[in-house]
Amino acid sequence: MELRSRTPSGPIQDAWDKARFEMKLVNPANKRKHRLIVVGSGLAGASAAATLGELGYQVSCFCFQDSPRRAHSIAAQGGINAAKNYQNDGDSVWRLFYDTVKGGDFRSREANVYRLAQISVHIIDQCVAQGVPFARE
Ligand SMILES: Cc1cc2nc3c(=O)[nH]c(=O)nc-3n(C[C@H](O)[C@H](O)[C@H](O)COP(=O)(O)OP(=O)(O)OC[C@H]3O[C@@H](n4cnc5c(N)ncnc54)[C@H](O)[C@@H]3O)c2cc1C
Repeated sequence: MELRSRTPSGPIQDAWDKARFEMKLVNPANKRKHRLIVVGSGLAGASAAATLGELGYQVSCFCFQDSPRRAHSIAAQGGINAAKNYQNDGDSVWRLFYDTVKGGDFRSREANVYRLAQISVHIIDQCVAQGVPFARE
């Protein structure tokens, strides 16, 4: 079986920005005419489904466990990293990217890891807005 990741081509810093820029826009009035299927109800699927629903699409979200809440996401301890760049900590998107690739034994899809580092701050904000409980102590 051929595994196709569909990672956009080009320099990793620009790959996903370029892919987003090249996507066709959907007129807000037409969004409700599209039915979207999201497979998976973990943090990735559930937040995608909620966001797409909020944008006006008709969304169906599927999972194969007995409850949508049985996804692995529920088991996560609640630690998360983001390139917040607090004063003097020398943090950056590039550092988080490098650290994550290294932590994955250099086997990750690098353009996707770069995107993760780039939007890491927003991921936390989105999770908080959607009621995800984080370990704070
Ligand atoms: C014990 C544990 C602790 C963790 N701690 C942390 C932590 O502290 N910090 C951190 O950042 N990460 C942590 N992780 C990792 C993190 O939880 C996962 O990377 C993340 O939750 C994955 O989210 P996801 O939405 O991509 O996948 P999942 O939450 O695994 O969701 C996958 C969904 O896809 C559905 N699905 C799969 N196959 C099919 C199919 N064929 N048809 C229909 N539905 C399907 C499943 O039913 C499920 O709803 C931890 C993981 C575990 C297991």
